[in-house]
Amino acid sequence: MKPEFFFTETYAQARKSFLEAAEAAGGRVGHYLNPRATGPDGIHLFLDTALFGPREASTVLVNICGTHGAEGYGGSAAQCAWMMNGGPRALPGEVAVLMIHALNPFGFAWGLRGTENNIDLNRNFLDHSQSPPENPLYERLHRLLSPRRIDEGAIRELLREGTRFIAEHGRWALEDAISRGQYSHPDGYHYGGRAPEWSNLVLTHLLEEELAHASRVGLIDWHSGPVGDGELIYLNFSNPRGPEFARATRWWGEEHLDPRIVEAQWGSKRPTRRGILFWGIEKLLQPRASLTGAVVEFRSARPKSDPASSLRIPMLERWLRFEGGFDAPEAPGYFAEIREEYAPHRLSWYEAVIANSAECYEHALRGLGEWARENG
Ligand SMILES: [Zn+2]
Repeated sequence: MKPEFFFTETYAQARKSFLEAAEAAGGRVGHYLNPRATGPDGIHLFLDTALFGPREASTVLVNICGTHGAEGYGGSAAQCAWMMNGGPRALPGEVAVLMIHALNPFGFAWGLRGTENNIDLNRNFLDHSQSPPENPLYERLHRLLSPRRIDEGAIRELLREGTRFIAEHGRWALEDAISRGQYSHPDGYHYGGRAPEWSNLVLTHLLEEELAHASRVGLIDWHSGPVGDGELIYLNFSNPRGPEFARATRWWGEEHLDPRIVEAQWGSKRPTRRGILFWGIEKLLQPRASLTGAVVEFRSARPKSDPASSLRIPMLERWLRFEGGFDAPEAPGYFAEIREEYAPHRLSWYEAVIANSAECYEHALRGLGEWARENG
């Protein structure tokens, strides 16, 4: 099957493909309706699951797409290709796979990164009974990043103030303040929320149910966005001196996991994120099971000409949600721009996503099979 076969235009099509592929491959499927939101034309929003391999397996690969809604297309295509190209039949005997489709179905369906409450799900996995992490530098940037109109004037002001901020704090501080997560502005960037989001609660419930017998868990959480054409970036969040990081390196290779290489691919030192899903799962599994895996990014965006243009996509999302609305005259153009950033309509991208994701699955599953046998 040609790579483009696995790619879809809408969340509803992606969901249909996922469920058809899962059933054809003998997966045990599950559906979770989001009762708090709907999609375009009022469609219902579901997180769907498919389980392959032995029930009560002690070694399980958890594979997620759509944590950042609009980034879901690449991961959804990768999941379908794995299921339709014989992945389930080739599983090592002791290993199960739990596929989660559209962890954030609202974002997937609308073509936005955040959830129905503008929450960045990958900043939402922390103990909300504690006071939230601070991000004092974000306070200075919020107004600047939240223009009423996205026009020349707003961009000029952003560049001018951004330059001043960088002179004072450095470039990395600017990127870190914007993207590490903030818990004070519900209408802002990378907002982590003040309570577990619906998607977080469902994932937690699912993993408690499905991983009750697991002691070895792998994770591939598909994302997209960084500049490139379908190459992978592996973001690992394990202790870099611990056995989990070493295991991920054995699975996927030093050339993908070495922090220096990853930072070069990422384009800068990574932000000091809080509340990320990887740590949420790690904590949920402790002390019973150990987690090895990564957020895996499909590079997808076109190169940016200046720092302001690298902020354009999150600015558009915020504008659609809080300034202009989804029905604004500008909205169709803005949605299309966001879509091209995370899931471009390029044959070369489709080919790379399918080939690279197949390799990523193969290496993770081989590693999980070995891990299962090591421990008998
Ligand atoms: Zn992402």
